[in-house]
Amino acid sequence: MEFIPGGVNSSLRAVEPRLVPVRAEGAYFYDMDGTRYLDYHGAFGPPILGHSHPAVTKRVKAAIEETDQVGVGIGPLEIELARKIVQHIPSGDKALLCNSGSEATYHAIRLSRAVTGRSKVIKFQGCYHGFHDALAMNVITPKEKLGQRDPLSAGSHSAVLADTFVCEFNNLDEVTQVFEKNPEQIAAVILEPIPHNIGCVMPRQEFLEGLRALTQKHGTILIFDEVITGFRHSLGGYQKICGVTPDLTTLGKAIANGYPIAALAGRRDLMDRFNTRTGGDVFWAGTFNGHPVGAAAALATIEVLEKPESHQYLFQLGDRMRAGLREITSRRGLTAEVAGFGSVFLTYFMEGPIRSFTDLYRNDAAFFIEYRRRLVSRGIFKLPMNLKRNHLSLSHTQADVDRTLEACDAVIGELK
Ligand code: PLP
Repeated sequence: MEFIPGGVNSSLRAVEPRLVPVRAEGAYFYDMDGTRYLDYHGAFGPPILGHSHPAVTKRVKAAIEETDQVGVGIGPLEIELARKIVQHIPSGDKALLCNSGSEATYHAIRLSRAVTGRSKVIKFQGCYHGFHDALAMNVITPKEKLGQRDPLSAGSHSAVLADTFVCEFNNLDEVTQVFEKNPEQIAAVILEPIPHNIGCVMPRQEFLEGLRALTQKHGTILIFDEVITGFRHSLGGYQKICGVTPDLTTLGKAIANGYPIAALAGRRDLMDRFNTRTGGDVFWAGTFNGHPVGAAAALATIEVLEKPESHQYLFQLGDRMRAGLREITSRRGLTAEVAGFGSVFLTYFMEGPIRSFTDLYRNDAAFFIEYRRRLVSRGIFKLPMNLKRNHLSLSHTQADVDRTLEACDAVIGELK
């Protein structure tokens, strides 16, 4: 592995133990040493149906029998997928396909700058939107850097960083002040409607509604980054659940159950800026955009999720897990906050309530990581990294949840 810097292809995969997954099926994956893991990491979120789901595999196989990427005009799968996205996502009059969430948020910001003629954007402490300079900052910021710009990478362009304001999640007053101090300068406000990149911090309904009103008042584009929440919490994303409709929506991860495809959906007049046939002047390109493999996987995934019992099951399983964890932590007298929404869950080792990122400094990070390490050594994979969420899939069973709860109870008993 000396020829791969850090031995991984994405910085956040560098955790101990270093695994070499060779097979993944349903709720499980297998390391090359033969160990089987019950998977709650779920590749940071995509396999919502479970790994290598037969319906997805079948559709992908059929697609590759037909064609690989041709890269001219548009294929039938791309048309069908755009139709499905527009059908389900409330803010989506039109949609375009790309390959990753980072691309989708990059394009969303650029489009916002084009339509407003402004350069500044607002993001929130704790939210992650991908690797590009305008947004790759202030996710899990150390205390001493709070209130400053905290780029994720060396080499980020200082002028680009300077154009991004970072506000506290759920704090509408702070956002209002930034607007007041920077009149007619804010192109976009972008947020994860539930910041799952720090576990699960629930948005206040007034916060989301307030952002909608503020952005409308100031002629600013409101972007919901639903790369995690889209399709996972509902086919219409969290916007369908909370009833707040943004101008643009970014999608990825669970849309294709583990295959690489992502999308930007949005208001017709905004999205038409990409339409070069009618004078649109915003550039959208990518050799692999709309690839038949990703599009086929997405269509198969959406078809399964369109059955109402799919999300019902995911939510019911999540509730069972959270109830079990609450029973364990309270019986064991442990200070803990069991959090989550639908199929996402985690236990913070701290006192609640949790309203924004700064509350999470109270989490006992060492305990959080050690608890997960011990679960991993028992064959239950939760990423042993501070504040990371867990994902359930349609392939997880009630028995898997019960076995997990037994293991959590035993580990907490050991650690307490
Ligand atoms: N947006 C959110 C909310 C994410 O969680 C992520 C990735 O974790 C991204 C965007 C970036 O997506 P990708 O890793 O596919 O570029």
